[in-house]
Amino acid sequence: MKVIEHLNNAKNPLFSYEIVPPPRGRSVQDIIEIVEALMPLNPPWIDVTAHASAAYYNERADGSIERKIYKKRPGTIGICGIIQNRFKIDTVAHLLSLGYTKEETEDALLELNFLGIHNVLALRGDGPNYKKEHAKDRSHNSYASELVEQIQQINQGKFLEEIEDCAKFDFCVGVAGYPEKHFEAANLKLDVANLKRKVEAGADYVVTQMFYDNEKYFHFVDLCRQEGIKVPIIPGIKVLRSTNQLVSVPKNFYIDFPDDLVEQVTSDPKNIIAIGKQWATRQVEGLLNKGVPGVHFYIMNDTATIVDIVKKFQK
Ligand code: FAD
Repeated sequence: MKVIEHLNNAKNPLFSYEIVPPPRGRSVQDIIEIVEALMPLNPPWIDVTAHASAAYYNERADGSIERKIYKKRPGTIGICGIIQNRFKIDTVAHLLSLGYTKEETEDALLELNFLGIHNVLALRGDGPNYKKEHAKDRSHNSYASELVEQIQQINQGKFLEEIEDCAKFDFCVGVAGYPEKHFEAANLKLDVANLKRKVEAGADYVVTQMFYDNEKYFHFVDLCRQEGIKVPIIPGIKVLRSTNQLVSVPKNFYIDFPDDLVEQVTSDPKNIIAIGKQWATRQVEGLLNKGVPGVHFYIMNDTATIVDIVKKFQK
């Protein structure tokens, strides 16, 4: 079933989850265990993140530098296939514009369709950290809105090359939103205007970047509604579980921590797990009280904590 159908049919708020493929070469067993742990919560859907190739540098014993380019976490489509077909849970495959050609995107959509997967999250991704020439005989999407356009073209049977008697495609498309604005946007208003381009291109719903202050999410939703964005906007929550995240989360995701949370963690760092869980629980409670359509959890190694939190609220 499509995410938008889950949302439209839901009688209560939905709790969805996002997982990350294992590092290259590692077993998929860890992912299977995460999904098994989530099964009692009856997840409506699970997202699987996508990863573009990056350059990795290694200094050899003689001082020379070795450069390797590869995807650190391949396997998005394979993992989606396992979740969809072995566990019978709907999956959302993340797709990236940058680092992929339109031809590769079309192939990925064909594979997803073969696997019975009808949900994708269309993202721009971040540019490669190495110089990459575009092949002249390949085409590219730049912004996520262009990727949404390509997916909607395929939904209408329009492929890059004309194909007769093509199979039916009907992808539900989600896109990313940023309550504290995307780091490249000049301001939140402009970022929301760019979010509207994605919705006008055919996005069915929005999932937000994580935030630790619910007021930022409510303000963002108000701005989106004023701008005429009518689709569901699902809040994204990541449970804080290490003191290092006070540095890594703002650095990697360009978001702020509320003073109260920072104060709690710095005055009692040994209690970080309990503090993170309590904060996330209060956030979920506050969001549900205001009638959000659901809550999307970013999962790393904290499945047990998230299961505990969701059990408190699930009806
Ligand atoms: P876009 O919507 O294209 O926006 C990027 C920037 O360009 C914004 O500043 C926007 O305001 C601006 N912009 C957009 N359109 C235009 C335009 N036409 N003209 C000028 N400016 C414009 N990354 C991964 O690599 N893999 C993942 O699986 C992944 N999953 C994610 C899931 C969620 C829910 C979120 C919130 C983020 C995820 N990301 C992922 C991170 C994402 O790829 C980065 O944040 C990326 O920098 C922006 O992606 P986007 O799709 O929001 O880009």
